[in-house]
Amino acid sequence: MKPIQEIFPLLSQPRKVVITTHQKPDADAMGSSLGLSHFLKQLGHMVTVISPTNWAGWVNWMPGANEVLNYEMYKEKAEAILNEADWLFCLDFNIFHRTRTMTESLKQISCTKILIDHHQEPDETSFDYGISDTVKSSTCEMVYDFIIGSGNGGTINEEISECLYAGVVGDTGSFRFSSAHAGVHTMVSDLKSRGLQHSKVHDNLFDNFLENRLRFTGHVLLHRMEVFYEYNTVLIAIPKADILKYHIKTGDTEGLVNFPQTIQGIKLVALVIDRDEERKWSFRSKGDFDCNIFARKYFEGGGHYNASGGRSSDSLEKTVERFKQALKENENLLQ
Ligand code: 5GP
Ligand code: MN
Repeated sequence: MKPIQEIFPLLSQPRKVVITTHQKPDADAMGSSLGLSHFLKQLGHMVTVISPTNWAGWVNWMPGANEVLNYEMYKEKAEAILNEADWLFCLDFNIFHRTRTMTESLKQISCTKILIDHHQEPDETSFDYGISDTVKSSTCEMVYDFIIGSGNGGTINEEISECLYAGVVGDTGSFRFSSAHAGVHTMVSDLKSRGLQHSKVHDNLFDNFLENRLRFTGHVLLHRMEVFYEYNTVLIAIPKADILKYHIKTGDTEGLVNFPQTIQGIKLVALVIDRDEERKWSFRSKGDFDCNIFARKYFEGGGHYNASGGRSSDSLEKTVERFKQALKENENLLQ
């Protein structure tokens, strides 16, 4: 993988560009994809953002979200665009299988592939150019660096600012995780000086839900949360019946995993949701417990040191049993 800077001189020649990201894109995945898309369009490129799957309704406010192509729904159209592409940007993931049913297509197409990502253990052999930096708060911060680094800071307008700011807010837990280093605040200061209305973005991200989601949150915290004080761990296991009863949609469960972190002394929070196709895990830790290693070892996943995810094909009961066994095996690390 050649350094991303080597792309900069090539940006002046218009190309057919596809930008893609991980399945079920969150604020950082969607914000970075759309932010980069608005930037490249200003330089004259023909850009399509393709999401491997559907996404949460709460990112639909982002400028350009209505033009994102859902691969699962419009496979033929997406395939045609992928096959025509000169460049493929892969944002906020670093290994093709995180795009689920798009994986084989991404492997097969022969265009130039460019990585911009901040997760651990990138599959660098799959990309021609790129940057992988786990110190970065978010892929949105990296897209900002990309725009500035290429000497095109002047293109950063309201729509780019809103998309990039949303991803930074999402991935830093509203600037509270240690990943919100000085450079993040410098970037936000720059976006503000270019006219960013940050309160509008917060409203769109956090005060934009329906009643059912809040009721669901209450139900889950009351009835589905288990605290294991001997392991400084909280587990929330959500059965499919809850998802159906409260009409929970993609993205409605985002943020739920953060609530138990408000309990004193909690080191690890695990959330598992019984989805149709799999049991999906989210892990969050404080301090020196490595969620990335934990997710990789027990639940076919990965991510960052203090935030990761994974999956299981087992039933909810079985995967919860496996988790409890894993807690025993990690007892020392959780003290
Ligand atoms: P979340 O719990 O918010 O879904 O994910 C937390 C972090 O872990 C995100 O950075 C996400 O990209 C990453 N992540 C989530 N699920 C997986 C997975 O199955 N595999 C890998 N490698 N990373 C994941
Ligand atoms: Mn991210």
